[in-house]
Amino acid sequence: MSGQARGSLTVTGLGPGAAEHLTPAVVQALAQATDLIGYGPYVERFASPGTIVTKARTHTSDNGDELTRARLALTLASGGARAVVVSSGDPGVFAMAAAVFEAVEYGPPAWRALDIQVLPGITAMLAAAARVGAPLGHDFCAINLSDNLKPWSLIERRLRLAVEGDFAIALYNPRSKARPVGFARAIALLRDTCEPTRLLVFARAIATPSEHVRIVPLAEAETEMADMRTLVIVGSSATRCIERPATPPFVYTPRSAQT
Ligand code: SAH
Repeated sequence: MSGQARGSLTVTGLGPGAAEHLTPAVVQALAQATDLIGYGPYVERFASPGTIVTKARTHTSDNGDELTRARLALTLASGGARAVVVSSGDPGVFAMAAAVFEAVEYGPPAWRALDIQVLPGITAMLAAAARVGAPLGHDFCAINLSDNLKPWSLIERRLRLAVEGDFAIALYNPRSKARPVGFARAIALLRDTCEPTRLLVFARAIATPSEHVRIVPLAEAETEMADMRTLVIVGSSATRCIERPATPPFVYTPRSAQT
């Protein structure tokens, strides 16, 4: 490393979609990057004309390829680059930051000495919650419904226990073409364990031009209401609606609860 500029690796969260949700710290990291690493569409948000133009070299890859992307970023940083990895939402929530640390733990010892920073972003569940009111105003948890990295039996167990604990539940990655059945099973579990009036929020593509939000009781929920761009919030037993004239209701969970 002697004589070479010291490299760094910054793992950034871009928020749910809109530029106003980017933190100034992330904007600064992007401006100073020599190399941008991430899933194609996220990197292109910054590398194409008319966006926040970066002079950085870009390294795009498929969405699934997180560990390879993490190792590439670490290798570039080791060589003196100011490498910036981009994630949607928050990089620590079902995203690149954990992949980077998995790569560091099992990679060459020299990677542990690198200057590595994680810059937070607004995660989808917070952007979705804010759109409808305050459904996460009391205790809540988040579950990734993808069974790519864990067995379905564990997902089902966690969902069952979250319902038993009466948490509001944010469901990430509810449904994709490659995983058509998981969400139907999750809905079936909810129907078995919750009252039919339990509120669900389907928040699709929040803070993008195709944003669409639906608030439905469990009895009216359909699997087709979710896709891979949707964040689903399952209310707790206390989550309720405040109806309003000619506008969508507010959804909120009161701050207090009894045993
Ligand atoms: N790191 C991201 C989550 C990545 S997992 C974050 O913190 O938000 C991808 C899942 O996030 C999607 O399947 C969807 O459930 C959710 N998601 C990401 N962006 C979203 C958006 N703009 N609107 C609604 N859900 C979103």
